[in-house]
Amino acid sequence: MRELTEVAPGVLVATSRTMSTTSTVIHDGRAAFLVDPAWMPDELAGLASTIGDRGLSVTGGFATHAHHDHLLWHPGFGAAPRFASAATAALAVTERPALLDSLGAEFPRGLVDLLGRVTGVEQIPEAAFPRDTPVELVVHDGHAPGHTALWLPEQRVLLAGDMLSDIELPLPFWPDDLPSYRSALDVLARYAEEAAVVVPGHGEPGPDALARLDADRRFLDDVAAGRVPNDPRLTNPGMAEVLDHLRDMSRR
Ligand SMILES: [Zn+2]
Repeated sequence: MRELTEVAPGVLVATSRTMSTTSTVIHDGRAAFLVDPAWMPDELAGLASTIGDRGLSVTGGFATHAHHDHLLWHPGFGAAPRFASAATAALAVTERPALLDSLGAEFPRGLVDLLGRVTGVEQIPEAAFPRDTPVELVVHDGHAPGHTALWLPEQRVLLAGDMLSDIELPLPFWPDDLPSYRSALDVLARYAEEAAVVVPGHGEPGPDALARLDADRRFLDDVAAGRVPNDPRLTNPGMAEVLDHLRDMSRR
């Protein structure tokens, strides 16, 4: 079983014990669409049983980007089609050996096989998505090539993937690409301005999308100018190393 928190009508979020990774369920009381279901095998199984217990059936899934913790699936979700941007779908194939390495040797074989089986699309096919729920895909190259946010205009929910986190600093790498990250923040700005709720790939959903975007811009400006950023996220695990890496990148 997984605890699901309703962040907006028809939008439920579960949070993994690993890196506060979020899984989002968009539903209409019957059909459920999964965004980045994650992460540990027992958590994926728990999510499948909770969805079943609620009388929902999975009609589709989406991976926001081609990192191993965002390409997962579970047999309990059924054989629904899974989608991503064209660039993400291509990377899920070409980067498969590295993605499997990141997953680790102890991950169950059946789940390893299901990793990254996504089809590239420009829009989510209507049959796969809950009825009467408009959705817009916002594709950019911040954090990862072909990274995609999902914007639900009716609920004003922004599923940000690995952008706009309250616990992680901006991560414009693998591949290192600071200009693309800044452009991505520009693309996301108009959605952040409108958003009632932002759901980051790692961290807490919150009402403060625009404040998070501003914090990310300020952080990158500080690094570029050689200033010491004053950002509470710096004390989180691994974030001092992120700052060092960003400093190296902006010197290059
Ligand atoms: Zn990622």
